[in-house]
Amino acid sequence: MSAAINGKFKEIVGSDNFWDEPADLMCYSYDSAFEKPVPPDMVVKPSDYDQVQKVIQLCRDADIPLITRGAGTNLSGGTVPVSGGCVMLTTGLNKILEVNTEDLYAVTQSGVVTAKFAEHISDHGLLYPPDPGSMKMSTMGGNVAENAGGLRALKYGVTSDYLMGVKFFDMDGNLVIGGGRTVKLVTGYNLPGLMVSSEGMLGVMVELIMKIVPVPEAKKSMLVSFGDVIKASETVSKIIQAKILPATLELMDNFTIKTVEEATNIGLPVDADALLLIEVDGHPEAVEDEYRKVIDICESLGGSVKVAENEQERDALWEARRKSLSSLARLRPTLILEDATVPRSRIPEMMQAVQNIRKKYDLTIGTFGHAGDGNLHPTILTDKRDEQEMARVEKAIDEIFETALKLDGTISGEHGIGSAKAKYLESELGKGSLIFMDKLKKGLDPKGLLNPHKMGL
Ligand SMILES: Cc1cc2nc3c(=O)[nH]c(=O)nc-3n(C[C@H](O)[C@H](O)[C@H](O)COP(=O)(O)OP(=O)(O)OC[C@H]3O[C@@H](n4cnc5c(N)ncnc54)[C@H](O)[C@@H]3O)c2cc1C
Repeated sequence: MSAAINGKFKEIVGSDNFWDEPADLMCYSYDSAFEKPVPPDMVVKPSDYDQVQKVIQLCRDADIPLITRGAGTNLSGGTVPVSGGCVMLTTGLNKILEVNTEDLYAVTQSGVVTAKFAEHISDHGLLYPPDPGSMKMSTMGGNVAENAGGLRALKYGVTSDYLMGVKFFDMDGNLVIGGGRTVKLVTGYNLPGLMVSSEGMLGVMVELIMKIVPVPEAKKSMLVSFGDVIKASETVSKIIQAKILPATLELMDNFTIKTVEEATNIGLPVDADALLLIEVDGHPEAVEDEYRKVIDICESLGGSVKVAENEQERDALWEARRKSLSSLARLRPTLILEDATVPRSRIPEMMQAVQNIRKKYDLTIGTFGHAGDGNLHPTILTDKRDEQEMARVEKAIDEIFETALKLDGTISGEHGIGSAKAKYLESELGKGSLIFMDKLKKGLDPKGLLNPHKMGL
């Protein structure tokens, strides 16, 4: 990039918030997905809305691709600057602006880290439920742009269920305001809805209004081990058929159990073929009733139940689940995490299919995930330097997605499309939807500068 252009960026954000040395650019050439790294031409970190607007306008006028980046934890290649350009970090927009405990909402800047936001809400005696596994790093803006889910999604929903309002800049630098602070609001198009899952392709979000909720009075967590992973999967449907909606209903297969135990020594039953981690919450009497019913259902399907007796045991249980991905990641040089999702009644079929695919392609796959919402994470452990194995991995991934679609599911429950899943998008949505998305994108960003080529657009 020319010295003149770089000088203009530095004028906007200051020299301390501008980087173009090769070693710095390398750090922003990749994210948490398994995609080919491509370095940007420069990285900038604005610290207020005025700077964001000026960076956008400079990119528009100089035809520079603009990639908005929160923490770069996305798992779909959403922040890889595939045509170079300017990576704009949102982490300088890091203030929580308001918590309204009467009207139950909070206003936050988009670069605030999710866990920091949730802790702040908790300090006010309230709850922000979406809790992605990456919450200690991910940003609120990244959560909206990917519609992040979490362990509590089954009962409490995902990020979009909490987004009430948004402020964002379009590619001309216009400040767009959508939604607001009221529970009901039908003013104009649903612009917060438009920004959900927009993956940095339609605008740059700077401020969000998020719904917050009362903390449940009671909760009960349990760990249920099964001798047969298919029985564990069937148990998931049975619990929900019994009209019980646990806050959390997670599954780990035997490979994942053993790997997590090796890494953490938490005391997981390594001989179990599968584990369900279940938490019910709500009014104390309802919790008492529901947790007894859950135990009966689990035992009737061969499960052996251990209830967490105190906060320490409960924390250990959830720590085990949260450590699944990082524990698996220690085993081989390359980890590919998928998030094919099916209606939860089809979980046993999906589990069986993943097992068959693992055997057919002779791969190491650990499966864990949000079984209660049909969102499994088959995690392939491999080595990208082994071309033969990688060819088998690619075929296995194709089959995992084909199976999910055959079972009326989706290629992505929560990780988004980015570059990683672009080639599968048409098979789920059809050509008409892609044409519509392309028209929308071209209307808002005629030069195609905002996060170009993602979702195949
Ligand atoms: C260990 C681990 C565990 C994870 N667990 C979960 C999980 O449980 N549930 C889940 O849903 N995901 C999970 N993820 C995926 C990831 O954390 C989420 O997708 C998260 O929402 C990304 O946030 P981020 O701030 O890192 O966004 P980034 O990765 O920086 O960006 C993601 C996308 O959002 C866009 N974007 C970011 N900020 C803005 C903004 N302000 N305005 C416009 N566009 C923007 C980017 O351009 C990009 O397309 C996990 C990832 C890891 C590494």
